[in-house]
Amino acid sequence: MSVRAAEVRAAQRLLWLVLVVSLVALLVPGGAMGRPAVIGAPAVGSLERGDTYVDPALYDTTVAQQVRADAALLAKRGQHVKLAAVPFVPGGDLFAYAEALRTTLNYPGTLVVTTPNGDVAAAGPRSQLSIQTALTAVGASTVADPAARLLVAAEVSTPPPTDSSNGVRDLVILTCLALLGGAVAIGWGLRREQRRAHERTMESRGILKVYADALGARARLLAVAPGAGPESRALVEAVEAYHVAADTLVDHATSEGELKDGAASLRSGFGDAERAGELAGIALPATDPFTDLCSVDPAHGPIAHPGEDGPLCPACVERLKSGHELIPRRVLVSGMPVPFQDAPVPYDVTAPHGVPVA
Ligand SMILES: [Zn+2]
Repeated sequence: MSVRAAEVRAAQRLLWLVLVVSLVALLVPGGAMGRPAVIGAPAVGSLERGDTYVDPALYDTTVAQQVRADAALLAKRGQHVKLAAVPFVPGGDLFAYAEALRTTLNYPGTLVVTTPNGDVAAAGPRSQLSIQTALTAVGASTVADPAARLLVAAEVSTPPPTDSSNGVRDLVILTCLALLGGAVAIGWGLRREQRRAHERTMESRGILKVYADALGARARLLAVAPGAGPESRALVEAVEAYHVAADTLVDHATSEGELKDGAASLRSGFGDAERAGELAGIALPATDPFTDLCSVDPAHGPIAHPGEDGPLCPACVERLKSGHELIPRRVLVSGMPVPFQDAPVPYDVTAPHGVPVA
């Protein structure tokens, strides 16, 4: 077979593909015939003010953050696009819903919408046929994460920089790009999942580190506590050993399993510190590892004058007296910095003895 014949056959195959995809898109019911669902006022208000809307009752706050970041990224690239994660649309014609919402907003750019059950649609300067074909070919509705789904859909439904007015040529290019894009989008989605898992590990490390510092402060306190008998000394040594083990595990953890090992050491350390404290006449409850420590940062150590200057270490009391503002130690929770005491307790570190760790 000659090169020329092979080229012709390849072109024929591509033409068939385009025809089949076009027919499927044409035969899929919906379009302008469907009756759009009632559009919620919060969605309209949010999309009038900015480029995103994520229904707070149906999606995680991390989804809202990611969608805002993605919209900012698209805007930076000069793309006119708004992203909306809306509630389930009754009747199911999400394309009509997107078109109606775009009309309500009087928005000239591309509006991409998705629902909690994975449907995704867009309305914009490009024809509904070409958008529908692109979304089907790229498999946008199979992307599990709502934020990633909106971004994948936005990538294939916004007009290319030099928008061709030739419909058929547009469709051929689009179909080829979309077929390639499917694999790219799936790989890209997986990478994002891996990155998120890594971010979660790093956040857990940051939170566990505060608990490790608290255990270290208790170990230092117990080391100089008066009236230590042999039993007490053994417990104090155990607290210090658990502190060193936990500190090392938390500092170097790269997986969930290693973090759990670090948390187990912390839990045992807090338990032994409580028993050693009882023998020395100091209340060091394992269920509340921060109670006796500086409220700015447990790493500072025990509080100076309980009830007088608040739960602060001597150094923080001095800083406060000299007019400094005291800012509590921060940790990251879902990408947002929060005071350490507002972070969720990781891996049941403070669970009382006898309660199995989840
Ligand atoms: Zn302090």
